[in-house]
Amino acid sequence: MLWDTNYHFNLPPPILRLLEILEAGGFEAVVVGGCVRDYLLGRTPKDCDLATNATPQELAPLLKAHKIPTIPLGLAFGTLGARFGKQVFEITTYREESGYTDHRHPKVHFNATLETDLKRRDFTINALACHPQKGLLDLHGGLADLRAKRLRFVGVAVDRVNEDALRILRALRFASVLGFKLEPKSAQAVLEHAPLLKYISKERIFAELCKILMGAQAGAVCATYVGVLEGVLNTPLNPTLLSPLSQMPPNLTTRFLGLLFACETPFKSLAELKPPKKLIKNIERLLPCTHQSPPLSKIWLKTQMQILSLSQVRAWLGWLKAYEPSKWAVLRTHFKQIGAQREVYTLGFLAINGRSLKGVGLKKAEIGACLQACLKEVIHQRLENTPSALSKFARAWAQNLREHALK
Ligand code: ATP
Ligand code: MG
Repeated sequence: MLWDTNYHFNLPPPILRLLEILEAGGFEAVVVGGCVRDYLLGRTPKDCDLATNATPQELAPLLKAHKIPTIPLGLAFGTLGARFGKQVFEITTYREESGYTDHRHPKVHFNATLETDLKRRDFTINALACHPQKGLLDLHGGLADLRAKRLRFVGVAVDRVNEDALRILRALRFASVLGFKLEPKSAQAVLEHAPLLKYISKERIFAELCKILMGAQAGAVCATYVGVLEGVLNTPLNPTLLSPLSQMPPNLTTRFLGLLFACETPFKSLAELKPPKKLIKNIERLLPCTHQSPPLSKIWLKTQMQILSLSQVRAWLGWLKAYEPSKWAVLRTHFKQIGAQREVYTLGFLAINGRSLKGVGLKKAEIGACLQACLKEVIHQRLENTPSALSKFARAWAQNLREHALK
């Protein structure tokens, strides 16, 4: 195996310690996967994983002897977690996979070598290994693909997608997050085999879809691979409406709003993915807003802020930024002013409350309606937000009510 010693990686101290322990115990160990890729791209890796020829049964006592707590993360797949304070590092036994039965789950064999372990990984850029003394190991041309910003399956693209259909969405995820392009055979395999995604659980699909949507190139990727998304959402999508996704702030509600805006059956498609209830609620509230042309007045914005939460308003403004930037600029300025000047848009900001209204002679059941009337007047700038002005208005409101009741 050809290690390139010209590469040096600034690996986290717990990883160096684990490598030392494993090697002193007579085993092989290397850093693999996404973290090598991210180091080479100059990105901060989310996690840092080790691969070794030690089995979990050999690993557990070895780590215990060095007082490193372990967590069984997936022993059937040969993965053990090593805990250092709040951080957990995954150590996975070299494995070979075969006999995929359901387009997702393989039979796992542990009598593998580093070479076979790298071969079972999805993309060339995820099949790199590194080691503090040995340098970099690139058996599948991952480095050249990293430099060319190219996503390529290890081995025959069609076979890799057939084995595990989740790789279709992982391809779109890396293309979106890293801004890479799929090389032609990988792109073709992904597009042609999209129907296999029916074998993948909704939870997995939803998790990958979130990552695709949050990527910097979400717009271009969703538009290019619209056929894949149509399969996932089970509905036709308008690709032109998907392109602006990248211009939206990376807020999950905002980006889902962008995706579902392009969708013929948005609520049904979203519900089928079993997302968190909060996302469903946000979309139910905000999607109708995307189909109306917003007036540009501050008063209108304040009335929306009565109905929507602040995070929902922010999410909707993020959507507007991509589709109607000039309207967004006006409304965002209003939104900032309302916040900075603590302008009244909700009952809590009124200079009176229910208790102070009791003195005005209102019945308990009438207080809520009177406060709402006060708020409306203040928002429309027809009434000053001071206790005296509000009490005066409330008295007149109550009198008006009595007079109407008498008629
Ligand atoms: P992230 O930065 O999101 O963690 P990652 O590439 O590290 O990205 P993980 O899901 O953490 O992704 O997986 C770690 C590694 O395991 C990958 O880099 C890849 O080598 C391999 N891998 C993960 N999922 C698959 C899969 N479905 N098929 C083949 N290899 C996979
Ligand atoms: Mg990872």
